[in-house]
Amino acid sequence: MKRAYATISVEIALTAGIKLANELTLKAIGIVRSKAAQPPKPGEGEVISEIIIDSSLTEALDGMEGFSHIMVLYWMHQRGAGKPPTKVHPMGKREFPLVGLFVTRSPRRPNPIGVTTVRLLQRRGNILVVQGLDAFDGTPVIDIKPYIPGYDSVADAREPQWLTRACGISQKLQDIYRRLMHCYGPQHWWPAEEPFEMIVGAILTQSAAWINVEKAIANLRVAKALSPEALRRLPLPEVAALIRPCGYYNAKARKLKSFAHWLGDHCDDNLDKLWADNIAHLRQQLLSIHGIGEETADSIVLYGANKPIFVIDAYTRRIIGRIGLAPESHSYAAYQTLFMHSLPTDSELFKEYHALLVCLAKDVCRSRPLCSRCCLNNICPSRIR
Ligand code: SF4
Repeated sequence: MKRAYATISVEIALTAGIKLANELTLKAIGIVRSKAAQPPKPGEGEVISEIIIDSSLTEALDGMEGFSHIMVLYWMHQRGAGKPPTKVHPMGKREFPLVGLFVTRSPRRPNPIGVTTVRLLQRRGNILVVQGLDAFDGTPVIDIKPYIPGYDSVADAREPQWLTRACGISQKLQDIYRRLMHCYGPQHWWPAEEPFEMIVGAILTQSAAWINVEKAIANLRVAKALSPEALRRLPLPEVAALIRPCGYYNAKARKLKSFAHWLGDHCDDNLDKLWADNIAHLRQQLLSIHGIGEETADSIVLYGANKPIFVIDAYTRRIIGRIGLAPESHSYAAYQTLFMHSLPTDSELFKEYHALLVCLAKDVCRSRPLCSRCCLNNICPSRIR
């Protein structure tokens, strides 16, 4: 195996103001082989990887089988380019205080060395099969050490409050997702044949059961009115009659026509032009259209444009409140921030999570909850026994 080399320049500023330039040379002892091109999502479980150690070092692994866990030190070769900052918001989240770089695990650091404690599943010659290594395929490994509980776990370790809270909420939300996914499986939302139909559905589903929205959309399809051009052309009463099954049909017909006119005026009916916008501006544009509020706008951004924003609805508020994670402010933005700052920014994750919460609310976490059947009942402080 060809070895990778990394040369590190270290400049140590001595207290007397004298500068001493040091140079260290590291030699990779192995490489990570993994299917992971990015960190795993909650619910995907921990990635299983192989660490291929340089064959000249095979016997240096003898006895490793006696340990359940090992510590892997690796070179984060895919870190961002440029000089790393000296102060950062942990995890890139602005609600966390600005702290020194070395107070965080940011990969953008002067020496991009990562360390992870992983479960050792198997040793085969010069190959270690491990679980839980958050390093990508091709990452150079620079050292392996056994995890020794007596040395490596500290009983009275402390951490800043912001970290305790952030990790606590994040872990809880990820745990909820895992349980929901296990219970209900992937939902593959949004149920629509094409993006314009998705938008129509998002507008029609306001205060309506989805089964009735489906009837309204079916009527529009049969009348060949499921396009912006047709919705502009048809008189308001005709649109209202077609969508009658989903309730509030006069108001919703006006909303559909407003959106159709806006799309024609601003994007020539081309949704790709709309999707090309960044999330903030896209959201702002949608909110400027008559009849589109935050929940509808975010549904369109997430499920239509496939951009990562978390959708908040009444079901989400109810579940999060009962589970004991409601933010201090009950605003839409506060709930959205709770999710977006605690979960990886991933549109597929956000899509499934929202759909699963809707599933739970309809199935068991109803106005009168059926807690005995709920997959969250052993972590929910509001459960009714
Ligand atoms: S245990 Fe009951 S209150 Fe809690 S989430 Fe489940 S159904 Fe809702």
